[in-house]
Amino acid sequence: MRGKNSLIAAVVIAAATALVIAFSIYKPQYAAITLLVYFATVFFLSVMVFILSSMYDKHRSSIDTKDFVAIAEHLNIEIMIWADDYSFIYLNKRIRQLLEVDYDGYDRVFAMNKAFGLIDNDPDLLRKIAAKDSHEASFRGKNGNITTITWSTSLVKNRRTHSVYISTGFDLTELKKMKVNLASANDFFNAAMELAEIGVIMTTDHKKYAVSPEAARVLGIHGNSVDVNTFRSLIHPNDRNTFDKAVKFADRNVGVESIDLRIKPVDGSYHWYSFRYKAIGATGNTLPLFGGALIDVSQERAKDMLIERLAFIDEVTEIANRNRLMEVGQETYDTCQLLNYSYWIIVLDIDRFHIINDTCGYKNGNYILKNFAHILYKFVTPGGLAARISGDNFALVLRDYGDDELPVLTARKVQEEFARLAVDEFSAINLSCSAGYSKMPEDGSSFLDVMEHAEFALKSSSGLRASICGYEPSMHDSIIGNTELEKQLATAIDNNELQLFYQPKISLKTGRIMGVEALIRWIKPDGTIINPDYFVPIAESSHLIGKISDFVLNEGCQQNKMWQKMGYPNIVMSINFTSSDFYQKDLKEKVFDALTRAGLSPDWLEVELTESLALTDEEFAISQMNNLRELGVKLAMDDFGTGYSSLSYLQKLPITLLKLDKSFITDIQNDNIAYEIVSSVIRIAKSKRIETIAEGIENKDQEEILRKAGCDYGQGYLYGKPMPAQKIEEFFDKTR
Ligand code: C2E
Ligand code: MG
Ligand code: MG
Repeated sequence: MRGKNSLIAAVVIAAATALVIAFSIYKPQYAAITLLVYFATVFFLSVMVFILSSMYDKHRSSIDTKDFVAIAEHLNIEIMIWADDYSFIYLNKRIRQLLEVDYDGYDRVFAMNKAFGLIDNDPDLLRKIAAKDSHEASFRGKNGNITTITWSTSLVKNRRTHSVYISTGFDLTELKKMKVNLASANDFFNAAMELAEIGVIMTTDHKKYAVSPEAARVLGIHGNSVDVNTFRSLIHPNDRNTFDKAVKFADRNVGVESIDLRIKPVDGSYHWYSFRYKAIGATGNTLPLFGGALIDVSQERAKDMLIERLAFIDEVTEIANRNRLMEVGQETYDTCQLLNYSYWIIVLDIDRFHIINDTCGYKNGNYILKNFAHILYKFVTPGGLAARISGDNFALVLRDYGDDELPVLTARKVQEEFARLAVDEFSAINLSCSAGYSKMPEDGSSFLDVMEHAEFALKSSSGLRASICGYEPSMHDSIIGNTELEKQLATAIDNNELQLFYQPKISLKTGRIMGVEALIRWIKPDGTIINPDYFVPIAESSHLIGKISDFVLNEGCQQNKMWQKMGYPNIVMSINFTSSDFYQKDLKEKVFDALTRAGLSPDWLEVELTESLALTDEEFAISQMNNLRELGVKLAMDDFGTGYSSLSYLQKLPITLLKLDKSFITDIQNDNIAYEIVSSVIRIAKSKRIETIAEGIENKDQEEILRKAGCDYGQGYLYGKPMPAQKIEEFFDKTR
């Protein structure tokens, strides 16, 4: 198009020049002026053509760009079109909005000013944008907001005019903000972790754990990640299983769970950590996550161990205490039922320990307890246990391997070893212990049940030293259970099956009967006699004891009065009170009523109490004793030496008679220490004007020793077993 126009112009110019030359030849006088006018005209036309053509060109190029601008204007990406000499710069609507520039469309001057004013204040920015495939630049909008755009630029060469650059942008502002947020969240997280001194580990692939600074310190590693296997190797071998299970079974999207682990740093020793962990399942946008927090709980653990020690270890002997025994025992019982195993439980009691304690001193008493515990400990087999139940009561739990002799043989070996301890300062003492045993699960419905049966067997033994006795269901008098026994006992009371037997008490000086002890018997219709050891505890645990005691009190008083009326010499009637009898508020009134009803003088009634009874509530016990004393009734301390004996009671309690327990008397001929104890107790009692009586005298030797020791009275099979009233009358007649 342009070539054709130039040809036309050349032809026109050539024709015009030919005409001017022809005219100048034809009219030479006008040649000079004609040529002058011609050249002036050509010059003028050339200038016009040049101006017009350049205007035309300008018009054309602006039309091309405008087409493109029209398209770019509404595209939803940032577009910038500019000439390499900056003779024009176009910013599309999208970028104008981003930059908050409110001019409309193409305006070269305005755009240039704006662009240079806004883009990072960097005059070379456009060149930099053009120089690279992509260039990131930040813009500050009118309102001060920073916008970051990454530009990608293409050059469009223009043959005739300047080259044009077309830059397309991608807005990174939100992405940048997210990065900043992430970075600060990370800082915040790390700072929080450091402050809380909590080690955190996290993984998405179960190959590596990302670790917080504290976790890195705990593990003794550098950097912020650790290989899963390395982490696992730092866990105590015994805890690895727990950890593996936690990882495997961590409930997806369920709450936080917790396990305790021992973990050691790479070069260090184990500490206890509470590992609180959680697993989060993968979602469309996230990977599955497993993570946990490590909190050092070594100090708490140490405290727990101390508490556990205090709660489960006996202070004196350092073996398991009763709590531990009950816990392990029940677990063992359950295992027995589950796996068809059997275990023996042997309950052991150091004979006359309280007296040893009183006479040899507390320190030596503890020494004996400790050594006894160590002897027992030697006999513990895997799965078994040695424990101190209370005072001088111990237990041994032994696995049964089918040898029914095991409990007796073990108890005997314990007795032999224990006896060997009697050297040096203990050489004068016969150290012995008694044992009762039972088998689980056969002998009871729970561990407690089985243990009580072993204790029952211990108590049911002859009462002699060094006895060993196994539990037999028949010990319960073939009665199935306490409730059944209770029912039968209640009927027995209503049917007057309870009867008092009387055992004579003899003056060791005169050999005369000075009193009787009323001892209850249950005589069944078929004539079987049941001893109080079997039914008094049952009566005590039910309301029946009240009825029994009322009967004993009234019957005892009336019988004594009857004998007086019959002309027999006046004697003291002793009756036994249990703790529930003794702690009744109207005890004084009851005793007074019984005496009045019988018409018996209080001088001829004596109440026997045990030491443990006075221990329950010492202050109230003393006031009750004083109440009875005010009535004029006598007070005896029964079974002295078997309970929590303390000679200090002789000082504190208003008692008139002290009954030495038969366990001292049994072997008094051979046992020096028993003799020493008995004679010193008699001496001390005398100094307090308290009379003494020895229980369980069975032979003349014992009687002789006791008489020489100054004991006032004696009671035992030597003089007579407990007998019905009628037999006592014969006794009176015989000794009159
Ligand atoms: P306790 O008060 O210490 O009674 C003495 C026990 O020793 C009696 O047993 C008696 O038979 C027994 N005994 C007496 N002399 C000898 C002897 O030489 N050798 C041996 N091996 N034993 C002897 P019993 O009658 O079986 O009574 C046992 C316990 O039952 C009594 O011990 C007493 O605590 C309690 N008891 C008996 N009757 C009653 C009662 O009416 N009421 C209450 N609350 N308890 C009673
Ligand atoms: Mg008694
Ligand atoms: Mg007694």
